Amino acid sequence: MIINQMEITFKALSINEGFARACVAAFCVQSNPTLDELTDIKTAVSEAVTNSVVHAYPKKAGDITIKVELNDDNSVSIQVIDYGIGIKDFKKACEPFYTTKPEQERSGMGFTVMESFMDNITLSKNNPSGLIVTMEKKFASSSNLAVGE
Ligand code: ATP
Ligand code: MG
Repeated sequence: MIINQMEITFKALSINEGFARACVAAFCVQSNPTLDELTDIKTAVSEAVTNSVVHAYPKKAGDITIKVELNDDNSVSIQVIDYGIGIKDFKKACEPFYTTKPEQERSGMGFTVMESFMDNITLSKNNPSGLIVTMEKKFASSSNLAVGE
């Protein structure tokens, strides 16, 4: 069950990457994560946001929305959503070292990093266009939050 949630929308500009990960981390603090868990979340959010900045909008930067839900089983669900060109082949995109931008010194490791730092990651198509990256992580320690607090 969801006990707290938030949503932010900002322009897909690289200057907002730091803002986005700090914002998500600050919200997650109430779930009592360890420093390592918080670092994992920041890294995964950075990778997903960077992807939307770098890949989603080849012409003009659109928006990125991040939704965060904190659950009563002490887990967090984070969605990084864009409205850009989307991905045709999810499986291929997630392969280590697969990148469509080798000339920009991309290593093709973003999704691999997200997978290793979070418990679960799912890609889905946004409607009418774009990508939704859903990432979940369970925190080790018990939450400070109580239902309805
Ligand atoms: P790195 O993350 O190591 O800098 P990368 O971004 O190319 O390199 P991944 O993050 O694993 O590697 O992404 C793999 C590929 O998936 C990208 O090269 C791109 O083609 C596609 N992709 C990822 N995110 C998006 C997105 N939000 N919109 C459109 N295409 C995307
Ligand atoms: Mg990437």
